[in-house]
Amino acid sequence: MSLGIPFLEKFFPDESKKTIKKLLPLVDKVFSYEEELKALSDEELKERGLSLKKEVIGRLEGKEGDELKYEEKKVLHEVLPLAFALVRESSRRTLHMMHYRVQVIGGILLHEGNISEMRTGEGKTLVATLPAYLNALSGRGVHVVTVNDYLSRRDAVWMGQVFDALGLTVSVINHQSSYLYDSTEIEDKSEDKERDDVGSYKIVYDYLKPCTRQEAYLADITYGTNNEFGFDYLRDNIGYNKEQLSQRVHHYAIVDEIDSILIDEARTPLIISAPAQESSEMYVTFAKIARTLIRDEDYAVDEKQRAITLTEQGINKAEEMLGISNIYSVEGMKYVHHLETAVRAEALFVPEREYVVRDGEVIIVDEFTGRMQPGRRWSDGLHQAVEAKEGVKIEQESRTLASITFQNYFRFYEKLSGMTGTAETSKEEFYKVYGLVVTPVPTHNPINRTDHPDLIFQTEKGKWQALARKVKELHEKGQPVLIGTISIEKNEAISKYLEREGVPHSVLNAKNHEKEGEIIANAGLRGAVTIATNMAGRGVDIKLGGPNATESEKEEIIALGGLFVIGTERHEARRIDNQLRGRSGRQGDKGETQFFVSLEDDLMRVFGSENIKNMMGRFGIPEDEPIESRLVSRALEGAQEKIEGFHFDTRKHTLQYDDVLNHQRTSIYNKRRRILFGDEEIVVEVFAELTTLKPELEALIQEKENQYGKGAVHHIFRIMMLQVIDTLWMEHLDQMEHLRSSVNLRAYGQRDPLVEYKKEGLRAFRSLEVTLKNELMTFLENIDGFFASQQARAQADFVQVIPEAPSPDKNASLQDGKVKAGRNDPCPCGNGKKVKKCDCEEYKYLRN
Ligand code: ADP
Ligand code: MG
Repeated sequence: MSLGIPFLEKFFPDESKKTIKKLLPLVDKVFSYEEELKALSDEELKERGLSLKKEVIGRLEGKEGDELKYEEKKVLHEVLPLAFALVRESSRRTLHMMHYRVQVIGGILLHEGNISEMRTGEGKTLVATLPAYLNALSGRGVHVVTVNDYLSRRDAVWMGQVFDALGLTVSVINHQSSYLYDSTEIEDKSEDKERDDVGSYKIVYDYLKPCTRQEAYLADITYGTNNEFGFDYLRDNIGYNKEQLSQRVHHYAIVDEIDSILIDEARTPLIISAPAQESSEMYVTFAKIARTLIRDEDYAVDEKQRAITLTEQGINKAEEMLGISNIYSVEGMKYVHHLETAVRAEALFVPEREYVVRDGEVIIVDEFTGRMQPGRRWSDGLHQAVEAKEGVKIEQESRTLASITFQNYFRFYEKLSGMTGTAETSKEEFYKVYGLVVTPVPTHNPINRTDHPDLIFQTEKGKWQALARKVKELHEKGQPVLIGTISIEKNEAISKYLEREGVPHSVLNAKNHEKEGEIIANAGLRGAVTIATNMAGRGVDIKLGGPNATESEKEEIIALGGLFVIGTERHEARRIDNQLRGRSGRQGDKGETQFFVSLEDDLMRVFGSENIKNMMGRFGIPEDEPIESRLVSRALEGAQEKIEGFHFDTRKHTLQYDDVLNHQRTSIYNKRRRILFGDEEIVVEVFAELTTLKPELEALIQEKENQYGKGAVHHIFRIMMLQVIDTLWMEHLDQMEHLRSSVNLRAYGQRDPLVEYKKEGLRAFRSLEVTLKNELMTFLENIDGFFASQQARAQADFVQVIPEAPSPDKNASLQDGKVKAGRNDPCPCGNGKKVKKCDCEEYKYLRN
């Protein structure tokens, strides 16, 4: 029996072969709809698409939680063949491409929540449309994750037409902007024609209409980068207005170039931070106030409980100094915590007993052993309060408002999948961290690329010289060359050598993705020489003879040997080297690759053995003469493996630490969400908790509810909870950061830092919960003050008076003061023309 996939038998490991063979009947089913769907009119096709969505949503109606997930899985599996067939037909009409069998296999694997390993140029962008459409049918949104903003716009405009023709909506989230795919304003066919020609590397902006973040997330399919998805998640969890929350559920994500996103970028977490000037000053102000307050008059001290209570007189004094009329009001509430903490620092913390000041730092003294504990910090702003009291530097350059690792963000998705040309070497990590199985998918055409053995030089200079000579030779012959480097610095070095040889070339540094996309798309032209760093031009296909080459133009390049890819040194990860090689030999094209390495390359210097150096010296090989040595190549690969292992450990480490926090984060954010969405239960729950701690509160709450109305009390209590939670959570994040560095310092004491971190982290979180309750009790006891101040104000909406959460960073603010308008909207300058046709200066930025 023929499998319809000629290359499966020969090359594939048994395991993947088995997986793929099992899918073949399903592939046949997809193909079986072909004729039937071809016969439909465009309207009928859209109708088919929409009715399928209606059917799926109908079958899931009223279901929730696990039942919903279970049913969804079942329904989607049933409709897969038709859904995929619809996408193929839609793609045929709009993109003039029809998914190959191997692409359908890749699509099924993605739908099942795996990683499809498909080589560069196999058409992964198109593959993703299959599972994206299928999973969007349940109306819960699909996220397609790209490595940069440019690619997300490109893919949305390019692939948007496939979904659009089936009645689905498509959007893009970018840094500072969001768009909906919109073809309704396209007047003539020229834009569509333009897109057909250049869509794989250039964006036809007329198809993108600016929209809000929320609108973008409401679309069926949303394209965007890992950063934007992650930051939106964090922003949503520091926001104060439920109307501004943007993300819906984390339903299904397809991550393109998944190795780059989940491995290369996973070493550093996403952090939203705010400059801390204001709060630094705040600590100083409160330290000053605390100093002027008089013990036993302005506040009472409970030595045993190590607590203080402010008296009426003390509160009045503080209010006067702060210049506010009522500290127990919404605006004042954030001060209460600072005030109390400052007074505690003043009254209960004594130098040389609780702490010492050394070299401008406040160091905790362990209460039992009397030992100093550098690096450790008190929580809930207490440490800062003591620093302010002592007049030393307040340790808070910027405050973390929220943070998360990519690992933990992407684990939120009910279903996660990804694609890349290079996942095999990181198989273990994908499985262990994300539970993702990597399955290599055979290529559509046989692979026809020659990977030459590495050339090894003694010196870097010798390497550059030989490399430049080689490039010159290839260039003169007309064979296109792509030179890959690991840094901008190396790009420049090579560029100089090429100039010396008189070889014209382009240099790409991954600075302007859009412009570089266009250059890389042309890297397959006759005689082209392109130098690019790793990420430059990533995701854009290099077609032999250029993006719109005729068959004979392409043949000409093939006769020359296809694209020649030169690597200028081995990267730390084999995966990245393979990625570079993969640029050549797309879809069965002819091509060549070769790495030029020298004993002076970082990888060799650090990991290579002295033997090799000595050996080359002994044989008297000139510096620009290469040797080909199995020994050296093996040494390099050994070094790469070692480093890969090392980085894997680092990422595992980051994750293990974030896991501790993740637990706490999830608990806090869930609470926060319930509060924000007006969940009545949460108030009742918290009241119950508080009254168990302090039974007399019960009567008080009852009384206040009668006095002001239950609704009003609950509403204001919710607002207060949000504020207190946020203040404490931020302080907690600070403390956890400090804890993280201090446990490492303590590691010499034979203790496992992670265990210590977990233990102390838990303790800190418990203390946060206690403080939270205490502050809420204080608030309840002083609720009259709040209503007094509230009455003085015109009955404004309470939500209005809540301070805006600080925007993540200046650049990320959506309110950048600029008018937003689509290219097809009337220009805001008012001359009656459409934006794209207008020539005014003022709104030039709208025309891109
Ligand atoms: P990858 O992301 O896998 O490297 P791309 O998605 O950039 O590949 O696609 C490479 C090229 O292959 C695209 O320019 C696209 O036009 C072409 N292509 C993909 N699938 C098909 C198909 N089924 N039929 C014809 N051309 C295709
Ligand atoms: Mg791609």
